Amino acid sequence: MKIGILALQGAVAEHIRMIEKAGGEGVSVKRPEQLRELQGIIIPGGESTTIGKLMRTYGFIDALREFHKQGNPVFGTCAGLIVIAKEIAGQPEAHLELMDIKVARNAFGRQRESFETDLEVKGIADDVRAVFIRAPLIEAVGAGVEVLSSYKGQIVAAQQGSLLATSFHPELTDDHRIHGYFLDMVKKAHQS
Ligand code: GLN
Repeated sequence: MKIGILALQGAVAEHIRMIEKAGGEGVSVKRPEQLRELQGIIIPGGESTTIGKLMRTYGFIDALREFHKQGNPVFGTCAGLIVIAKEIAGQPEAHLELMDIKVARNAFGRQRESFETDLEVKGIADDVRAVFIRAPLIEAVGAGVEVLSSYKGQIVAAQQGSLLATSFHPELTDDHRIHGYFLDMVKKAHQS
């Protein structure tokens, strides 16, 4: 399975490494035409406003909506979670508007700008290593969204069909089980 990592801004090389550890092939994506040869894509962490602007500039908004519509899974981590959300608290406009979630940016406050913890993630394990960096939270989820993980009562991972989202950075650890889970989603999506 060929998985793209959107390489406009943010943590790309680390995701490629994790996808390869999990048994897939990771490709850095800079142009929408590259989507044709991919079976899934990861939108990485970074700065969501910057990623959103670059996506508009390079024609990725419609291209990624179409990519997903054709049945290819999309995984957003941290800023990537913000990018795929239907609604961003306090902002009039969202970006891809794919996943039925409302997110709050930089939701952990100054004291907790970055931290690491082990999380229970439904369907994966009860000790998934998670790194949070100026992380967003999922404030609300629509009916079709399954909550996969919470931290102190707040939602930090969720899935809606072929969409996966985490508030944290699964690529900054040695734990590639989340990438393995995404790879399984991609395999299932392309089995028929
Ligand atoms: N705070 C960033 C944003 O709002 C996300 C941080 C991250 O991706 N590590 O876009």
